[in-house]
Amino acid sequence: MYDLIITGGTLVDPAQGISEKKDIAVSRGKVVEVAESISSSGAKREIDASGKIVTPGFIDIHTHVAHDITKLSIDPDAVCLPNGATTVADAGSTGELNFMGFKRYVVDRCQTRITAFVNVESLGMVEFNDSPSNTDQRWPMLITAVDDVLAPLFVNRKNLLSVLRGSRGTIVGIKWAHHGIKLLEITRQIADEAPCRVMAENHFMPEALKYLRKGDIITHAYHFHTNRVNNRRDGLTEDGKTIHPEIFQAKKRGVLLDVGHGKGSFTWRVAALALEAGLEPDTISTDLWIGNVDGPVFNMPTTMSKFLHLGMALERVVEASTSAPAAALGLSGTLGTLEVGATADVAIFKLLEGRHPLVDVLGVKKMADRLIAVTDVVKGGKVVKSAAD
Ligand SMILES: [Zn+2]
Repeated sequence: MYDLIITGGTLVDPAQGISEKKDIAVSRGKVVEVAESISSSGAKREIDASGKIVTPGFIDIHTHVAHDITKLSIDPDAVCLPNGATTVADAGSTGELNFMGFKRYVVDRCQTRITAFVNVESLGMVEFNDSPSNTDQRWPMLITAVDDVLAPLFVNRKNLLSVLRGSRGTIVGIKWAHHGIKLLEITRQIADEAPCRVMAENHFMPEALKYLRKGDIITHAYHFHTNRVNNRRDGLTEDGKTIHPEIFQAKKRGVLLDVGHGKGSFTWRVAALALEAGLEPDTISTDLWIGNVDGPVFNMPTTMSKFLHLGMALERVVEASTSAPAAALGLSGTLGTLEVGATADVAIFKLLEGRHPLVDVLGVKKMADRLIAVTDVVKGGKVVKSAAD
C-alpha cells in the first residue's frame, strides 16, 4: 500500500531525462515507483495531476529566511513552501555570531528544508533600523565595513570555521556580499581551509573572478546597477552591450551563474543580453527578502516564469530550479529529482495561458503568455498544499 500516488500529470524531471506522462508512487517519504500508470487502488491518498506538470520540489538557493533573527528575512513556510520551493538556501543572513540561533529557532522548526551559506561577516546581515545616514530607503543599511582596513575586523576566522564544521548538515558554503573585495580574499582563504564552496555576489567583476573556482556560485547574475563602493556597473556587463570575456572563461571552468533576482538584481536587458550570448543561468533563485516579496520577485514560480518568457525551454527552467541547484548544493540524488529512492519533494503546477505582466527591478514590464502557478506541494512525502483543499 502506497502512502500517496500522483497520477495523470506530465513529469518533468531533467535529472532522469523525463518529460512525459508518468505516475509517481510515494511511501515513507520516498519515491518508490515511477511508471506510465499506477493503480489508485493501492494508495492511501491520490493527487490527480491531469493537465498539470509534476516536477521535483523547487530548490531556491538564494533566499533570506532567518525569520525573526534578521529583520530583512521572510518566513519560508509562508512564502517558499506553498510556492513549490521545498528546499531553500539562506544566502548569508546570519554569520558565525547568530547562525546557531537561526538554526535552532528557524532551520530546525520550519517545514521548509533550509540550508545556509553562512556570511563571512560575523553579524551576517544585521541592519541599523532607520539610520539617519541611510538616505536610500529602498535598501536596508547593514552593519558592515566596506573599507579594506576595517572589513577584516568583521570576520572571526576561528569561530566561523568552528560553526561551519559543526553544522555541515545545514551549512553549504560561505557567502560574500558586496561590501568590498578584501572580504572576498578572506572568504576564499576560509573556504579553502573549511573546505567549502563560495557564493559571491556579482560585483567587482571581472577582478573578483580570480577568487572563484569550479563549483563556486556568482549570484545576482543579471543586475545592472552601480556598486556604491566602486561606483561602477560591475556585473557581467558595464555598458549593457558587451559581456566581460572573463565571465565566459569562469563559466567554462565550472563557476556557476545564479539568478538571485532580488530587489535590484534582475533586469530584462542584461538577462536577454546574457542568454543571447549563451549565459543561461545554471540556477534560478529569488533572493527573497521583505523588500521584494510583494514584488517584483513574489516567489520562485514568478521568477521561473520570467525565464520561460526569455525563451528558455520549460525543461531547462525546471532543471535550473531543481536538479542543477541540488547539484550546486551537493544534494544530488536525494533532492532535485523524483527518481526511485529520492526524497518525495514534489511541485505540481499549471501553465496558465493568457497575458501576465512580469516586472523587472527597473519597473520594465513584459507581458508573458505563460505563467507557472503552483497548485500542489509535497514535502518529504507529506502533502503540504493541495488543489483539493
Ligand atoms: Zn541576498
